[in-house]
Amino acid sequence: MAHKKLLRVLFVEDSEDDIELMLVTLHHAYGEVLHHRVDTEGALRAALMHEKWDVVICDHNLPDLDAHAALRITQEENKGTPFIIVSGSIEEAAVVAAMTAGAADSVSKSNLARLVPTVEREMKKSSTEHDLKLAHAQINRISYYDQLTSLPNREFLQHKVNQLLDRVAGQKRFALLVVNINRFLQIPRTLGMDAANQAVRLVGMRIQDSIGDAGFVACLGGDRFAVLLYGCTQYEALQYQICRINEKSIEALNINGQELFLSCRVGVSVYPEDGRDFPELFINAETAMSLARTDSRGYRFFNRSMNASGQEQLELEHALYRAVKQEEFLLHYQPQFDLRSGRMIGVEALLRWQPSGKELISPARFIPMLEETGLIVQVGEWVLRKACEQNKAWQQAGLAPMTVAVNLSAIQFHQADLVPLVRRVLAETGLEPRYLELEITENIAMHREEVIISTLTELSAMGVGLAIDDFGTGYSSLSYLKLFPVHKLKIDRSFVIDIDDSENGGSLVRAIAALALNLGLKVIAEGVETAAQSSFLFHCGCEEVQGFLYSRPLPAEEIAGQAGIQGLGNPSPGEHCRINCKNARFRQVGMPLHECSAGNQSVANSL
Ligand code: C2E
Ligand code: MG
Ligand code: MG
Repeated sequence: MAHKKLLRVLFVEDSEDDIELMLVTLHHAYGEVLHHRVDTEGALRAALMHEKWDVVICDHNLPDLDAHAALRITQEENKGTPFIIVSGSIEEAAVVAAMTAGAADSVSKSNLARLVPTVEREMKKSSTEHDLKLAHAQINRISYYDQLTSLPNREFLQHKVNQLLDRVAGQKRFALLVVNINRFLQIPRTLGMDAANQAVRLVGMRIQDSIGDAGFVACLGGDRFAVLLYGCTQYEALQYQICRINEKSIEALNINGQELFLSCRVGVSVYPEDGRDFPELFINAETAMSLARTDSRGYRFFNRSMNASGQEQLELEHALYRAVKQEEFLLHYQPQFDLRSGRMIGVEALLRWQPSGKELISPARFIPMLEETGLIVQVGEWVLRKACEQNKAWQQAGLAPMTVAVNLSAIQFHQADLVPLVRRVLAETGLEPRYLELEITENIAMHREEVIISTLTELSAMGVGLAIDDFGTGYSSLSYLKLFPVHKLKIDRSFVIDIDDSENGGSLVRAIAALALNLGLKVIAEGVETAAQSSFLFHCGCEEVQGFLYSRPLPAEEIAGQAGIQGLGNPSPGEHCRINCKNARFRQVGMPLHECSAGNQSVANSL
């Protein structure tokens, strides 16, 4: 009749004889009956606490423990274990009372034939209830937890925020943070999906670590997290927590033995001023997060004026997709000069976006979004081709050959077919590799050192020049400088600006120039705006320059105009100076470029 081999029964009974009788009955149905007898409250509690029982069988009339108390204890210690009363004599009213209190059934000692079917039925019921509980727990896990990170999900977060809103009811402040991993798309593209998943899990753990008990962390899916900070009512305390998140997330992650450097951006909304319910707080934190993309600190607090820019940002994103389709991009070229000879030695191709009927849009605004959306790969290929074509066209028009520098974002650098792509573009445009220079930033050092080295080595072997752009603004510069086969360092504009600051006096520029010379690398300074900067650079041994002092980025035709004059014959340095300074706001004929005077003109940054 019964199918189970082992039955574990806890008897609450004072009569060994009665137990013997019941065991005989149970043994008919069960191969093995593991049992234990108790008849006091303490013994019952201990037995329930230390063992798991399939059923509790309790006598109704015990000298030291009545069935009601035994039932209550069973429910307290081990809710869900079937509790059956087996009694010699029990009144109908007592049975009803016991069953109302939660007893499963009552069996008379004079009719023990009912015992096995009753035990069977109750165990089946309890196992169904157990399965149901498990199913509920499972549903709960799926509905309220993120499968990848096991962190609470958005629904759970919403529930938490709603609970908090009920509790504080406008009386206390709290903050909601939306945290996004920067340039996350690179990881699945370059290291694969498993590594990306692992990165998300690790970042989630780090955020959780950095917050501790101060808040509640949820994973919103993909590369986004949210943090509910209950206790941070002061701006400084909030800032401290955010900085901890950012600091923790930039520490190198070790994924399958490889170091990966990530960073996060954070948007913050504060209750009640930035929103009175979850949707409003959440949307506003998201808006602030998306605008933090361009924030050097990596976080932004929401303010009302952001809604307009958030909307703008969204429109920008849509417009970018259209721009790619409708080819609304163009290139400007900024000349680079050799200070000693005064010659224009190259140009840097700089991307511009001209939506139809609108003004040019700065790459600072749209490159981060091209990277986020992955469109940079497509647009970057176009830039590479266009720049090579243009340089070849200048050469064919008889201009003196020069290099064209093309910026590569880290995502492009890590695309699998970068080397064949460069080779193909050079072959198709007919440009000799030595007239192409690729500008990479320190961000490429984000991961897979050996892949970076092999890509750089292949490009270098092809004859393409390699420059590190914005040098000194990234991390681990020195360690990889020795490893990576690059040819040139581009001193970032921020250090060039320091030259005019009498305190620092350009000490970093001097150090970078010395470092480059030491390593046998070329060095160029960008963002040169004043004659003082130019002269300082020259005396530090940095003889290549680019900046508004000499020329702003120009449309291709205007470069051709300048270079055209330069390309004819072999004019003296002074003459070059005169020609090449054409776009600057000054002109002194007959002196090397580094001695050109700009008066006090510092030209504001513009396209
Ligand atoms: P970058 O590669 O460091 O380019 C130099 C930026 O400094 C350019 O800004 C240039 O116009 C500006 N600049 C040059 N001289 C001066 C100066 O004397 N003073 C000031 N204030 N600024 C000067 P732009 O064109 O806005 O480009 C910004 C950044 O956008 C670039 O920085 C580069 O990182 C990125 N970018 C531009 N074109 C491309 C592209 O085709 N692909 C990729 N991946 N990134 C690009
Ligand atoms: Mg550049
Ligand atoms: Mg730069």
